[in-house]
Amino acid sequence: MGTVEITWGRSAPEGAVVARGRFADDPTGGSADRTLAEQLRLAGFDARPGQVHVGLGVDGPEFWVGLGRRPSVDTSVVRRAAAALVRAAGRTSVVTTTLVDDLDGIVPPADVAAAVAAAAVSARYRFEVHRSSVSTDGPDRLHVEVDESDSAITSGIERVLTVQRGVAFARDLVNEPGGTLVAAEFASRCRSLGAHGVRVVVHDHDAVTALGMGGLLGVNRGSDQPAAFVELHHEPAGAVDLPRVALVGKGITFDTGGINLKHNASALLGMKTDMGGAATVVAAMQVIAELGLPTPVSAYLPLTDNMTGGDATRPGDVLRMYDGTTVEVVDTDAEGRIVLGDAVAFAAESRPAAIVDVATLTHTAMHVTGQQVAPFVSTADWLADQVAIASAATSDRAWRMPRVPEYRGLLKSRVADMCNRSEAPAASAFAALFVESFAKGLPFAHIDMAAVVSSDRDLDDRPAGATGWGVELLVHLVEHFERPAGD
Ligand code: MN
Ligand code: MN
Repeated sequence: MGTVEITWGRSAPEGAVVARGRFADDPTGGSADRTLAEQLRLAGFDARPGQVHVGLGVDGPEFWVGLGRRPSVDTSVVRRAAAALVRAAGRTSVVTTTLVDDLDGIVPPADVAAAVAAAAVSARYRFEVHRSSVSTDGPDRLHVEVDESDSAITSGIERVLTVQRGVAFARDLVNEPGGTLVAAEFASRCRSLGAHGVRVVVHDHDAVTALGMGGLLGVNRGSDQPAAFVELHHEPAGAVDLPRVALVGKGITFDTGGINLKHNASALLGMKTDMGGAATVVAAMQVIAELGLPTPVSAYLPLTDNMTGGDATRPGDVLRMYDGTTVEVVDTDAEGRIVLGDAVAFAAESRPAAIVDVATLTHTAMHVTGQQVAPFVSTADWLADQVAIASAATSDRAWRMPRVPEYRGLLKSRVADMCNRSEAPAASAFAALFVESFAKGLPFAHIDMAAVVSSDRDLDDRPAGATGWGVELLVHLVEHFERPAGD
């Protein structure tokens, strides 16, 4: 089973192995036993975050979980420690942890409990639907020792479990191969949000044609799989007059690069993840609906693969976008911005207070901020501030790039209103300007998650593979969304 059950309360389950926090200031946990100190030194255990040692407690073996030095413990340290515990405890079926009490007076109990639960569930995630046998690694249950009458603690844990269901949903979508998660399959998985009260509208290929989404259709032209366009609406009762957030997610279910093709095979192998923006958005919508957040939110997902079939869009072809803009396709591998252009223009028609798109847009994002941080741009400082605050409050790291309107000249085409790629080195910034031009002047932010959508190794509580990056960030952004007066 690829999950760990989280339980909580004062009485620990019988037979559970205890996991205690240990600080670098005092790795022995207050013991004056010199043999123990020597034993820990020989084992290399100095209680750094991420270290776990099997020690001997009064009632038998225990896990000692490194937390670093007392003054520097925060929730990100707790997450790293709890993830390390779950990985180290693979042979143990039930673990109970005293971390909340161990950190009393250092980190608020509700924050510790939430961080432990989130990290344990996240680290224990497995994608095993295509395996004939699933891993039996534990633990199957992690018990958090807390005062169960403290509603801040218990509601906090329940909340992170809801968020982590969303993170797992996003990872399942991103991990799914491109040959099975085609546009129609992605759209059908979106329908499950109906059970959470989300209004789901699926436009099939014919409906996309009727809408005149020439960008989405142009990218789809080399595929035998029909395109789709999905709308998701979270409409809380009584929220009619509240400012609405529009989310847009790039949903390229596989990107061959089209006729321009990817330059190397290893890049192709990762291209099932090119719908990571759409996965993040649909998963965030599930969480937003389950939490019953008061802010109205609409999401728009343009879905297709980018293939090389006999009638694929040729370099030099001109597409007429949903809003009438014509685009010369100088590079068929710059397809994400084209489908986003249609979706952003569609989103702008209903005049939301802000449009935020999330997309695995440019490989060069990797060169901007590396593999653990997503660059973003925004046309509005207040919106950028809210994205940055949401990032800082979660484990989804993002960093604001400058927006350079002067680069607009690079969008010029000899035959159409715009072209879709420039030779200039500012690829991530250029792509952002292209998409922005469809937002009709509305407050707009573009988050490029190309570098963070998946990882080839474990990163803190994220197992290798799809990271689920951005779900927590979008939920936090929506939960605290505020349109400034006068905007
Ligand atoms: Mn591409
Ligand atoms: Mn792409």
